[in-house]
Amino acid sequence: MSTLRPPAAPSTPKWFYAFGNGTAEGDGARKDLLGGKGAGLADMTRAGIPVPPGFTITTEACRHYYAHGQELPDGFEDGQRATLAALEAAIGKKLGDPQDPLLVSVRSGAMISMPGMMDTILNLGLNDRAVTGLALRTENPRFAWDCYRRFLQMFGCVVLDIGKDEFERPLEALRKKRRAKTDADLGPEDLKALVTAFKKTIKTLSGREFPQDPLTQLRLARDAVFRSWMSDRAVTYRRLAKIPDDLGTAVTVQAMVFGNLGETSATGVGFTRDPSTGENTFYGEYLTNAQGEDVVAGIRTPHPIQDLEKELPGAFRKLREITRRLETHYKDVQDFEFTIQDGELFLLQTRTGKRAGAAAVKIAVDMVDEGLITQEEAVLRVTPDSLEQLLHRRVDPDTAARPIAEGLAASPGAAVGRAVFTADDAEKWAERGEKVVLVRRETVPDDIHGMVAAQGILTATGGSTSHAAVVARGMGKCCVAGASEVRVDERGKCFMVGGRTIKQGDVISLDGARGLVFEGAVRTLEPALTPEFARFLSWADAVRRLKVRANADVPKDARKAREFGAEGIGLCRTEHMFFAEERLPVVVDMIFAASETRALERAHEAAQRELERGGRGREHAARAEQAKRLHKELVATRKRYEGALATLLPFQRSDFKGLFEVMDGFGVTIRTLDPPLHEFLPKRETLIREVSELKGQIAVLTAGTPTRRTKDRRKNALAAAHAPSVTALQRRLAARMKLLSRVEELHEFNPMLGHRGCRLGITYPEVTAMQVRAILEAAVAVTKKGKTVLPEIMIPLVGHVNELVRQAEVVHATAERVFAKAGMRVPYQVGTMIEVPRAALTAGEIALAADFFSFGTNDLTQMTFGYSRDDSGKFLPIYLDSKILPLDPFVAIDPVGVGRLVRLAVDEGRAAKPGLKIGICGEHGGEPSSVEFCHEAGLDYVSCSPFRVPIARLAAAQAALRERNGA
Ligand code: PEP
Ligand code: MG
Repeated sequence: MSTLRPPAAPSTPKWFYAFGNGTAEGDGARKDLLGGKGAGLADMTRAGIPVPPGFTITTEACRHYYAHGQELPDGFEDGQRATLAALEAAIGKKLGDPQDPLLVSVRSGAMISMPGMMDTILNLGLNDRAVTGLALRTENPRFAWDCYRRFLQMFGCVVLDIGKDEFERPLEALRKKRRAKTDADLGPEDLKALVTAFKKTIKTLSGREFPQDPLTQLRLARDAVFRSWMSDRAVTYRRLAKIPDDLGTAVTVQAMVFGNLGETSATGVGFTRDPSTGENTFYGEYLTNAQGEDVVAGIRTPHPIQDLEKELPGAFRKLREITRRLETHYKDVQDFEFTIQDGELFLLQTRTGKRAGAAAVKIAVDMVDEGLITQEEAVLRVTPDSLEQLLHRRVDPDTAARPIAEGLAASPGAAVGRAVFTADDAEKWAERGEKVVLVRRETVPDDIHGMVAAQGILTATGGSTSHAAVVARGMGKCCVAGASEVRVDERGKCFMVGGRTIKQGDVISLDGARGLVFEGAVRTLEPALTPEFARFLSWADAVRRLKVRANADVPKDARKAREFGAEGIGLCRTEHMFFAEERLPVVVDMIFAASETRALERAHEAAQRELERGGRGREHAARAEQAKRLHKELVATRKRYEGALATLLPFQRSDFKGLFEVMDGFGVTIRTLDPPLHEFLPKRETLIREVSELKGQIAVLTAGTPTRRTKDRRKNALAAAHAPSVTALQRRLAARMKLLSRVEELHEFNPMLGHRGCRLGITYPEVTAMQVRAILEAAVAVTKKGKTVLPEIMIPLVGHVNELVRQAEVVHATAERVFAKAGMRVPYQVGTMIEVPRAALTAGEIALAADFFSFGTNDLTQMTFGYSRDDSGKFLPIYLDSKILPLDPFVAIDPVGVGRLVRLAVDEGRAAKPGLKIGICGEHGGEPSSVEFCHEAGLDYVSCSPFRVPIARLAAAQAALRERNGA
């Protein structure tokens, strides 16, 4: 609880900011203090927009609450009473008044919106006496009792932590009994009975009477909203959305207006543009005779907002006019809430609308064309991460598959996975590596962890502003909402649609762009840049300084990278070319032959030395014989080694040619062999198991059967029958044992810190030479075709300058041979990765031997933290949860430790060699905060996976703009 930053301490902090009736104490610029909701209400009041009056309790009060063991400062309650009294005086009604009570809502509102993650309480101020006053005053007892039962329900759940079901069950039972389709069909007596039942439930389950005193109600509700800042779902959401935990929430207390007063009353939510596609169309939903929670909770499927024009035209026109004004004022899409009470419109909230990635781009581009914002503002508007959704696969629109259901296209993208029916199952299944689609009747905010784990979300009820839709869009997850033909049986873990039953574990697919559900896995297509997206990115390109390259190993990926705007290849991991089916056996043979060659060379040298010591007789002759035998073996093994290299050479050459052709005119950084050799070999444990199984099988087959002929005819027949399979097994066993012994020779206890990177190239310079020959022969061939080829040969895992010097000698010698044979030269560079801390610390020395540096931040992070890249999954989640680390350092660069090494290497490298070209090719190269770091550290380029290139282009532009704007 003490994680919240203590509030700043002005001499007399102002905890309450009143708004409404034409005046507001706060203003829209103070989202940090008033939260988005409080700031928006203050702004709207100032703009003369009809807003029910109220006051906002500041985020600072929330921070104080947490910093002082959930206590508020002295005098706070008095201040709240006085602010409330002023509100009551302005409205002319009092909380709890038995004649004509004031009712208020108590709602959360953080600086950065977290839709549905915190709590709200409506109709506060009602009690056993006030409810009759409300019934008399409105001449509508049904309405009054409905308000009271809703209040009890929310108070019970939010303030007293009673499970939702405790209230929903009796409500549902009553609806069934009365054959009521919705709550609106229940009469006043029914609702009165529910009130009695709910009060009893509260007493039984919380051990206390429901408080009749409105001030006590308000105090408890306010504190519950403060507490909801730290609810599991809010904490999870913040972690995902990278919202700091120490901001705290404001609490807005606002006079209630009622959308449930009858058919001329309504409540709804909307967006000034479509948040799913970005189309400039009025978008939203409403329900008549309902309260706000009914619309977003997804229990009743609401009506599209366009229908309101027919039902309540006056209110609709006014709503349209006000929301247009709001959008122009804020120069951004607004997400608003409204209530119509007896035909009169009130705005309850306006805030920046969350939108899907594609919509964000479209809206930014349209707003530039409409003259509302500048191109640079547009670039800053779209969060780089939100582009990821545009870069995901989508369902092939020409798929032959027929949908089994249709719902609302709530959030675009494609999802293919196994159907699961609870958030916990989604999480569990995903943890064991399954792709899942979360299917729910409706989602509730507590489902957030399941939504995170799922590929996509399908709901049966709820509209496009339901919680599921809003949260999915925010997360960039595909969502089909309100697929009303789908009957979800959450207990039975299945859903029924059109006579079919889809059970837990069955594969389904969602098309979030068209709102379609399919049985099985449908074909998906790779994303492509739309002209609009390309135009938007061209604005980003105009302002960025960092270049963006791609990590691509094969021509197909290189082409994709160019399509997405990559300006070269920053890393080609050549070993990936070795994994192809027809190449792997050759690679395995090359590895064995290489290591055997080195061993035989050593043995032969030792034998020669022995011989040279002289001597005579039998002993000397035996030594000479031994040296001769070793030499013969060495020649044969070398031949095998050279043969394997010669087989691999053309494969590599043709791959490199492909890369150079695609990257005509751009640099192509090709790294020599890097991973530990065991990655190419069969697993030692598997071989040990196979050997023991084979031995077991042979033992079973031969048990009791003689290996030589006996007089027993039956036994001889048995032996004859088994003989061929035993022989085959024995042959197989011998081969596996030989393989196992070779694998054991190469076994390493810590391969990531073992025989890999340039250490391989130094032990087996023939491999480096083969790769360099393939690179430069390809470069010569493609240059001859008239293309501009810029090869950059990169030596991995250098920790000492001499390693680079030795490998560079091999490169240059090979290059001279290739150019001499080709009769022409191609300019090339030799550089190194900086991924060992010692390399960073001695960058000044290394720079003198390098044409360029590229930070391998995957290994640099591994070695700086001492966390194994492959095993950190066991403890990093705990470190993140318990805030030992703020972020996963393998995802976002650690600016303090790893970043310090990067800065040092940049400074010392460039001091030794001014203008040294420096880039990054670790996974961080496509992560926005790391891209910003690279910009600040003065790198020349970032390199990332082809699909992250647009994200990096945008992040690089934003970094440049922020630097220019001094932010
Ligand atoms: C790195 O270490 O950051 C890198 C790019 O190399 P690899 O991931 O292939 O080890
Ligand atoms: Mg590496």
